[in-house]
Amino acid sequence: MSPTQEYDFDLFVIGGGSGGVRCARIAASHGARVGVAEERFWGGTCVNVGCVPKKLMVQASEYRGYAEDSHGFGWDTQPGAHDWTKLIATKDAEISRLNAIYVKLLSSAGVEIFEARATFRDPHTLDVGGRRITAERIVIATGGRPERPDIPGAELGIISDAAFHLPERPARVVLVGGGYISVEFAGIFAGLGSQVDLVMRQPLPLRGFDNDLREGLAEALTANGIRLHPSAKVMAVEAVGDHKRLVLAEGKSIDADLVFFATGRIPNVAGLGLDLAGVTTGRNGAVVVDEEQLTSQPNIYAIGDVTDRLNLTPVAIAEGHALADRLYAPGPARNWSFAAVPTAVFSTPPLATAGLTEEQAAARGETDIYVTRFTPMRHTISGRHRRALMKLVVDHATQRVIGAHMLGEDAPEMMQGLAIAMTAGATKADFDRTIGIHPTAAEEFVTLRTRTRVVGKVEA
Ligand SMILES: Cc1cc2nc3c(=O)[nH]c(=O)nc-3n(C[C@H](O)[C@H](O)[C@H](O)COP(=O)(O)OP(=O)(O)OC[C@H]3O[C@@H](n4cnc5c(N)ncnc54)[C@H](O)[C@@H]3O)c2cc1C
Repeated sequence: MSPTQEYDFDLFVIGGGSGGVRCARIAASHGARVGVAEERFWGGTCVNVGCVPKKLMVQASEYRGYAEDSHGFGWDTQPGAHDWTKLIATKDAEISRLNAIYVKLLSSAGVEIFEARATFRDPHTLDVGGRRITAERIVIATGGRPERPDIPGAELGIISDAAFHLPERPARVVLVGGGYISVEFAGIFAGLGSQVDLVMRQPLPLRGFDNDLREGLAEALTANGIRLHPSAKVMAVEAVGDHKRLVLAEGKSIDADLVFFATGRIPNVAGLGLDLAGVTTGRNGAVVVDEEQLTSQPNIYAIGDVTDRLNLTPVAIAEGHALADRLYAPGPARNWSFAAVPTAVFSTPPLATAGLTEEQAAARGETDIYVTRFTPMRHTISGRHRRALMKLVVDHATQRVIGAHMLGEDAPEMMQGLAIAMTAGATKADFDRTIGIHPTAAEEFVTLRTRTRVVGKVEA
């Protein structure tokens, strides 16, 4: 009998989302006896109410623009009517396919699956759907959940989970929040034909992103007919007849058929029994972990959004995989670099970024900035007012490229390659000696010859 067989499992994972599934699957493949509990949907947020359905809906919303853009190229394409019910049904069929793949991946790796809620009774004991289960090690992978603001009438608005199953497309939508979920859904609804208002507390959307990108995005959203309400304070939501009224400070209000709160997400820890497990939490209930995902309890780990750091699917997956390797792999653990994590916002047009913003780099030291803005080739003919923006942030002393940013079509597809170069430590000279692909927008990244400005502390 192995020393761990005093427990039902070597490892038990709470949450079958991006991070949890990967961790459970890899640990089982290394020979550990693994169980995983999922209370809602296999694949978690990303597959069911996040990245995947969101991107399918963004893609659906792009066809209207394509039809309009085609006119400059000699086509007479008309957008036609959009069938919302069909979109939701097709999207749901794809999600069901993915749910089944996740279950198959787990079961073929030998993971025992529990379709139930799991909560702690003590550091080694869980209640899983009423059943007492013990494990030598436990991983908390419960993700995050959307939060409504604390204002009167908040229950009259929806949060992002509900946006994926609206019975019909609202004619008028008001989005509250300036983060990525808000700007993405603004593009979805506007592209499908709704009138969209976007209300945000900040002067620009996407707080924390590079300021040039934020300004460029605000301009692009406005060019798409989305009405921005920057620096606004939301006071209440009221029901007025068959629609809703969003009340703002200073007596302003916006009437709409749907109020959509995209005001933030918090770690999913309510009722989990973390106190019984002796697990320490921080801001908003985030589970506090060290660089090896270990919590304050020596046999309990946490990965992904529940730790509220870089809340992205590939990060949750990397954390889950690396943890499973560290705990059970016979050889060295797979290693990821979190130095230049790339990320995209699937706004219309999209944007993508890797590494430091100009503002972050400037706070660290002297930095060379290269920026270009141009009309992409397609739109010289389509007639659409759309400008692309590309930017490199270069550490002045080492000439390493420490930030790359782009607003414009295909930005997310381009950024992955740039992130590889940055992770490998590429310098501006390496970018400059790389041959471009012509004619593309991407070639601009290797032809940025003239420095736009120098920012940051200049040593005396
Ligand atoms: C609208 C939206 C769009 C997004 N778009 C992107 C994107 O484009 N790119 C990107 O990288 N990221 C995106 N994200 C973020 C991404 O979805 C998350 O970072 C990722 O899902 C985190 O994975 P996770 O494993 O930590 O948690 P999750 O995927 O949330 O999984 C947690 C799982 O745990 C389950 N659970 C919770 N408590 C319990 C319990 N007590 N017992 C059993 N099960 C439990 C939940 O039901 C859930 O399935 C998006 C998120 C949202 C909301």
